[in-house]
Amino acid sequence: MYNAKSMKAEEFISDEEIKATLAYADANKDNFEVIDQIIAKAKLGKGLTHREASVLLACDNEEKLQEIYDLAKQIKEDYYGNRIVLFAPLYLSNYCINGCVYCPYHMKNKHISRKKLTQDEIRREVIALQDMGHKRLAIELGEDPVNNPIEYVLESIKTIYDIKHKNGAIRRVNVNIAATTVENYKKLHDAGIGTYILFQETYNKESYEQLHPTGPKHDYAYHTEAMDRAMEGGIDDVGLGVLFGLEMYRYEFAGILMHAEHLEAVHGVGPHTISVPRVKRADDIDPEAFDNGISDDIFEKIIALLRVAVPYTGMIISTREGKAVREKALELGISQISGGSRTSVGGYVEPEPEEDNSAQFDVSDQRTLDEVLNWLIKLDYVPSFCTACYREGRTGDRFMSLCKSKQILNCCHPNALLTLKEYLEDYASDDTRAAGLAMIERELERIPNDKVRDVAKARLADISNGKRDFRF
Ligand code: SAM
Repeated sequence: MYNAKSMKAEEFISDEEIKATLAYADANKDNFEVIDQIIAKAKLGKGLTHREASVLLACDNEEKLQEIYDLAKQIKEDYYGNRIVLFAPLYLSNYCINGCVYCPYHMKNKHISRKKLTQDEIRREVIALQDMGHKRLAIELGEDPVNNPIEYVLESIKTIYDIKHKNGAIRRVNVNIAATTVENYKKLHDAGIGTYILFQETYNKESYEQLHPTGPKHDYAYHTEAMDRAMEGGIDDVGLGVLFGLEMYRYEFAGILMHAEHLEAVHGVGPHTISVPRVKRADDIDPEAFDNGISDDIFEKIIALLRVAVPYTGMIISTREGKAVREKALELGISQISGGSRTSVGGYVEPEPEEDNSAQFDVSDQRTLDEVLNWLIKLDYVPSFCTACYREGRTGDRFMSLCKSKQILNCCHPNALLTLKEYLEDYASDDTRAAGLAMIERELERIPNDKVRDVAKARLADISNGKRDFRF
């Protein structure tokens, strides 16, 4: 039944295979011979299968866990260096016809205020985001073919890319909308989107159907096969995720790795990113109502093991998590974070009063983007607003080969420094600017190639003189 190359959801995410994987993991969780073999394989930096990674997830031996955490840190350092990419979500509309029981946008919620931004309102939101310093957005919409048709999404993307305000620009728009048709994915591709993001929520079909009792999202196969349609439509970079808390985390962990294996087997390229959201309190949603909430410790273990299992895949954490959890997650494998986020429709221009709440979930990390940057710099992470790969056509397997050849220090690292410099010139507080400039001086010396370092220095000087948007 299980077949990674099948195009049928129930075959590439086979329930039988997940259950067999969990049984195998339980049987071997104290088998140190097997565990050591898996860790030795992981140390080669080429990833692990869902079965191997699931054994490590089941293992609770302190010593082995420490070895896994150290390895996760090492792999992160080797493949991503100390850069952290920043983005912000932009909620365009919370009209929705689905019945997702964990999401306050569900159709039966008559209490939440429904909003859909006009193109003028989008312009104002984007200018507010540009004035914070953002260059990369993820647009978010509920599913509603009447209120949020694909034409609205496409028009909004065009509006966002067209806004030129001071030195600001949005250079990459990622899109998080409900599963759709190949034809619509082609349109999104033609509109120049970055990553198409769609969270699976849960890989367990039975739970999935209960958690999505009504609306188009109820169809498990259509949702699970969406990434294949997106790739058929020409989108190279897709972002996976599960909403932790809905189902047993070990099931989800095996499921998401099987999904990654499926994409690799069929399209020759795995997911560009994996997100790790946890269910949060929201308008009429109480996270306690779900039985599968995970502790911070388990959450960190999942992040470390994903880092080890899929070393080439970027990992995203949002402001659903607070500062302390994010700090730990950065160490263990996260490569992208959001900052200064608002999850309400129109929230960047006007924070909403309590009684007029359109937010999707409560934000735990409430710091401004500048505060987040300041924190990153002081933790010795280089904040990056880089969007070069996708604009240079380095998507899909071309991006992966850059990552696999570990050319990041000669390419992504200088690009990160250039975009950080733009931020420091245009948007930073005095303290962040001082810390950031000192960081750039230090980090320049880490560029291995002399020529690249010289060009980077020249471009940094150009940025001081008012020029913008350089990239390697
Ligand atoms: N409506 C689209 C869809 O169905 O995929 C767009 C996604 S929605 C705006 C973004 C994601 O937020 C969802 O996929 C879900 O995982 C997450 N989400 C929904 N309710 C949440 C909650 N209460 N806490 C945390 N995340 C939530």
